[in-house]
Amino acid sequence: MLKNNKKRVLSGMRATGRLHIGNYLGAIKGMIELQENKQYEVFYMIADVHTITTPYDKDSLVQKRENVILDYLAAGLNPSKASIFIQSEISEHVELSYYLSSVVTVARMLHLPTYKDKIKQYPENATMALLNYPVLMASDILLYKADQVPVGIDQEPHLEVAREIARKMNDYYGTDFPEPTRFATKGGYIPSLLGEGKMSKTVEGSYINLTDNLDTILNKLAKAPTDSGKGFGVPNSGPVANLLQLVSLFEGDEKKKYYEQEYLSLGIKYTELKHDLATAIYLALEPIQDKRKDLESKKNYVQSVVEEGARKARIIAGHTVFEVKEKMGFI
Ligand code: AMP
Repeated sequence: MLKNNKKRVLSGMRATGRLHIGNYLGAIKGMIELQENKQYEVFYMIADVHTITTPYDKDSLVQKRENVILDYLAAGLNPSKASIFIQSEISEHVELSYYLSSVVTVARMLHLPTYKDKIKQYPENATMALLNYPVLMASDILLYKADQVPVGIDQEPHLEVAREIARKMNDYYGTDFPEPTRFATKGGYIPSLLGEGKMSKTVEGSYINLTDNLDTILNKLAKAPTDSGKGFGVPNSGPVANLLQLVSLFEGDEKKKYYEQEYLSLGIKYTELKHDLATAIYLALEPIQDKRKDLESKKNYVQSVVEEGARKARIIAGHTVFEVKEKMGFI
């Protein structure tokens, strides 16, 4: 029997650019927490197949993928505790997604808010790959029979699809897929610096990268919209609420409460708030950046990490696909 009594964890990031603090707080923090928990066997992939669901540059795909691996390791993913691998190197992800797609209706996929958002962003790109994104994600998770998925809140509709697919596959074919749940962190939704929507790699000006220096962070925060700094009630949504959320995450709740008081009395001085926040963010990122610089010169080590990760992932992936083919009548 392949599955030991440990529960499994699966997560991944697309290779669309440098990771930002939204990815870090919403996903990586949870990934680290679960890798430290001995009850779990964890699998973290670089989701390069998912990258092609939106327009991408083929000449920089490998480079972007390497950036994600470096960001993963620098941010604290530990290859002695987690299998870190490249999705496209395990062909079973794509294979299983095709089998799973037979229990999903087109209408269900067309109604997903994530699909609607993406076609608004890229009207020329309403492709089958984009429509199929949630099925591929379900395949990523079910391939390892993962119970826990540390991802941001934006992925919740996709997890619901994964649960539906697991139930249907178990019902129709007698498989034993667990219904996966999202492992939540305190920063499950980090808003865009532009004041609208979420922080996203694909929206310029919305994010702070893990590799940004203090000046860059200061400049980006300087552009974040604010208001007059005072009023009768502290906004609980919009640009000011977003800034206060970042204050709470990087400087603590006490500091946030202090600014809330200021808002109701003397007024917040946003230049000071932004300066202190930028410094706090930079201090949190500095150790990650130092580690990244060190890893950049260790290409062989980084390569060996993903080779070993793929070796472990492949064993389980092969086993699950064999089982599914057997249950679906291919064998
Ligand atoms: P993506 O960048 O879309 O590949 O997302 C990678 C991971 O980061 C997923 O788990 C997302 O849910 C998470 N994530 C992306 N953007 C944010 C955000 N603004 N706030 C919290 N989590 C996020």
